[in-house]
Amino acid sequence: MPTQSAALDLARRVNELKPSITVALNNKAKAMKADGIDVLGFAAGEPDFDTPQVIKDAAIKALNAGQTKYTPTLGDMPTRQCIADKLSRENNIPGLTGEHVAIGVGGKHVLYNTIQCLIDPPMPGEDPWEMILPTPAWVSYRPICELAGGVVREVVAGPDTDFRISPAQLQDAITPRSRVLVLNSPSNPCGTMYSEADLRDLAKVIKEGFERAPQLVILTDEIYEKIVYGEHPHFSIGSIPEIAERVVTLNGMSKAYAMTGWRIGYAAMPGDFGKNLIKAMGKLQGQMTTNITSFNYPAIREALTNPAVETEVEKMRQAFAERADLITSRLAQIPGVTCPQPTGAFYVFPDVSALFGKTSAKGTKVTSATTLCEAMLEEAHIAFVPGEDFGGISANHLRISFACSEDQINAGMDRFKAFVESMS
Ligand code: PMP
Ligand code: GLU
Repeated sequence: MPTQSAALDLARRVNELKPSITVALNNKAKAMKADGIDVLGFAAGEPDFDTPQVIKDAAIKALNAGQTKYTPTLGDMPTRQCIADKLSRENNIPGLTGEHVAIGVGGKHVLYNTIQCLIDPPMPGEDPWEMILPTPAWVSYRPICELAGGVVREVVAGPDTDFRISPAQLQDAITPRSRVLVLNSPSNPCGTMYSEADLRDLAKVIKEGFERAPQLVILTDEIYEKIVYGEHPHFSIGSIPEIAERVVTLNGMSKAYAMTGWRIGYAAMPGDFGKNLIKAMGKLQGQMTTNITSFNYPAIREALTNPAVETEVEKMRQAFAERADLITSRLAQIPGVTCPQPTGAFYVFPDVSALFGKTSAKGTKVTSATTLCEAMLEEAHIAFVPGEDFGGISANHLRISFACSEDQINAGMDRFKAFVESMS
């Protein structure tokens, strides 16, 4: 009965929405592999390690014990408290109780909820709320802001500063309509991070900025906090007392504990407004996903408190550090490809613009990061993410995830090098 549906439209909201390129490419590489094609995937933003066994055991035990029913929307209180304790103990964030913590279905959805609770579409005659977004930035921040009715004000950084914005740039970006400043250190896609001193300098500008931007909230996405291997340890901007009650700290289990498929994320914000925000997120979540999978709470507590898990996390960190060195040295041998040394997360974000204008051995004219990635996937069977959707200067770059074995890194870099050397 085609005539019945021919006139149907989808909502503008989704028609205008850009699909996530990281998710799309990951799916495409997996589908090619399932078809028997020998694709080397460097698109996935997920650790290749398995979840530590003790975490799995905690969930299995809870499942077998019948913990299979709905739970309080934002999580059971022992687990929310356990997260508050972790953030106080490890991240030095002051004033947190379980009531300042929301647990949701992955960091991405918790981010979505947070932004929905902070950003409204403009009323007639009003200017829209602005999200200050240092770029290059993970592909989902912009669409999540726009879905809420806000606009993005990019603050662009480049490889010359290891992709870090300066305090002066931030100062210029703050307006009376600034609602959310996003920080993401270590960074996806850059693989670099801010030092404590950098963040303290930004915090000074933020504090002064509250006069001009009375509704400004800082959202710091620290999902890669455990994966650091440069000279600077991770530092949480929410630990700075002068601004702490303006800071939402976003994190989750996906990256640190190799738990991407479990879909567990959380956000925390101290103070009275923090408690209100978290309550509002519960109201919203109660009309969306309700709670996370019920038998996962003991697994979260296990991950955050069992010292044996810390040992596993440290092993993974060391492996990422070795892979970072390996991939950087391999990339340095490829003509026309340059990038700063990664210091956190598991990405490198090389500038490949020197290759634009060239033609691949099989005759594809490379004019952009996207055409380069398409040609490499089709002709060399290596999956990278083109930079365009990460904002700022990203169109000159591509993102390579090295959350894979050293053998795969070596094989992938062999193919990348051969592809580039055969271009004319
Ligand atoms: N923030 C950043 C910077 C990420 O790279 C990711 C990975 N998708 C997330 C948040 C969300 O991860 P998840 O939804 O798996 O918790
Ligand atoms: N964060 C990962 C990435 O950037 C997973 C995919 C996604 O959620 O974007 O690849």
